[in-house]
Amino acid sequence: MSKELIKGGAFLISQSHAEDVFTPEDFDQTHKMIDSMSRDFVHDKVLPKTDEIEAMEEGVIVNLLKEAGELGLLGVDIPEKYGGEEGDKISTLIVTENLSLNGSFATAFGAHTGIGTLPIVLFGNEEQKAKYLPGLASGEKIAAYALTEPEAGSDALNCKTRAMLSDCGNYYILNGAKQYITNASWAHVIVTYAKIDNEKFTAFIVDGDSPGVSIDPEEKKMGLKGSSTCSVIFEDAKIPVENVLWEIGKGHQVAFNILNIGRFKLGAGCAGAGKYVLANAVDYALQRHQFNMPIAKFGLIKGKVADMAILNYVMESMLYRTGGLIEELLSSLDLEGEGAGKKIADGIQEYAIECSINKIFCSEAFDFIADEGVQIYGGYGYSMEYPMERAYRDSRINRIFEGTNEINRLIIPATLMRKAMKGEIALIQAAQKLQEDLMMPMMPELSDEALAEQENLIENMKKVFLMVSGTAVQKFG
Ligand SMILES: Cc1cc2nc3c(=O)[nH]c(=O)nc-3n(C[C@H](O)[C@H](O)[C@H](O)COP(=O)(O)OP(=O)(O)OC[C@H]3O[C@@H](n4cnc5c(N)ncnc54)[C@H](O)[C@@H]3O)c2cc1C
Repeated sequence: MSKELIKGGAFLISQSHAEDVFTPEDFDQTHKMIDSMSRDFVHDKVLPKTDEIEAMEEGVIVNLLKEAGELGLLGVDIPEKYGGEEGDKISTLIVTENLSLNGSFATAFGAHTGIGTLPIVLFGNEEQKAKYLPGLASGEKIAAYALTEPEAGSDALNCKTRAMLSDCGNYYILNGAKQYITNASWAHVIVTYAKIDNEKFTAFIVDGDSPGVSIDPEEKKMGLKGSSTCSVIFEDAKIPVENVLWEIGKGHQVAFNILNIGRFKLGAGCAGAGKYVLANAVDYALQRHQFNMPIAKFGLIKGKVADMAILNYVMESMLYRTGGLIEELLSSLDLEGEGAGKKIADGIQEYAIECSINKIFCSEAFDFIADEGVQIYGGYGYSMEYPMERAYRDSRINRIFEGTNEINRLIIPATLMRKAMKGEIALIQAAQKLQEDLMMPMMPELSDEALAEQENLIENMKKVFLMVSGTAVQKFG
């Protein structure tokens, strides 16, 4: 390990240095190759099928996933040993960003490669990985992740699905229902959760064709019309004991660690979609004439384009910065042997705050961008014949799934306080020092360097944060 690792949340109390921050300008040759290949795939294969995807024509998304699998785009997070590409987290970001130009395909792809496949990559044993991962990498098998239940959404640990060991001891018998499950109607592999003996929250790998597993009809949704979203019903479903994923009673470790990664990837999806909406909006604004000139000439339209560009820039910057942090940490770990997946999950957990920030910011930024996209298109933005209407509807879900933005907003201060209390980051010391410094406030001397003033503003904002959060902790605990 060449340099000291940056702690999750530490950006709030320390100055960031350009050389520590990963940006797309740092892409190596492999990243560039993946970037160009995934862009070509989405433009040549996915976008021309938009109408078929939206009409949910049978087999379209599944076949596209298979084609993506043939190109290695489904296996970026899967070790080579199991048929994957074993790429780094930057490659994951690049592929996720580029494949997110159609919301329905992006959701199917994200649920398959992220929350569906990663539990097995990170928490599966050798037999489970050898059995499932090659098919998931190639796209022969499609994965889903079934956590949500009718009465347990944000409060996922309140799960009502039960698992009982069969009399012969070879199976767990699952009873219960999962709701709003992406890819449900075409999934061969469903990672799900149930309480063994009413109490031990446990993850299971369920084969879609197991006896007692059935899929309800498709939900009629506001957006993502081409993605599959159904309830999954377990009625005395027989799941072999060897399909328990990770340890009995430790399903929460699987569920929540996977959601951290899901959140970070969701941010990447919003960034990719945001850039695409901006590109379309600019093209349209240049072509559309009113008052004898392109609407792109009007100051108010330019202002919208600028605001959309700002948000795209910030999204991209925060995502690759977080990707760089995660990659730096993962490459410092010894990832040989059985416990490697858990180490990766724990490593990503270090940046849980950043993952939630990415999820919240990017989902809200993309909503704004899609909304302004509709506005630039005017009445055509409201018509289903033009791309903005779909982008607007598709963007809305991002604030709801992978933990609602409210839940993610709770995670940030709770995680920060926990890290501070455990001494993992010196937040309390920084707040105390600030209080001392404020007894004798001094104006800092700004250097002549570029961005010195902006840096100073950021440092001051961090001080405001420390003041307010320190006071809140003192007053409310
Ligand atoms: C298209 C689609 C695809 C999905 N795909 C999947 C999937 O593949 N797998 C899966 O498991 N799930 C999936 N979901 C489910 C999704 O993750 C849940 O809908 C989400 O977690 C919210 O749960 P809920 O709908 O029960 O809302 P609730 O938990 O009932 O929340 C309702 C409202 O209350 C707020 N709220 C709840 N608790 C608090 C709190 N403590 N403080 C403040 N506010 C709070 C929420 O933020 C929200 O605004 C999908 C949903 C949709 C619509």
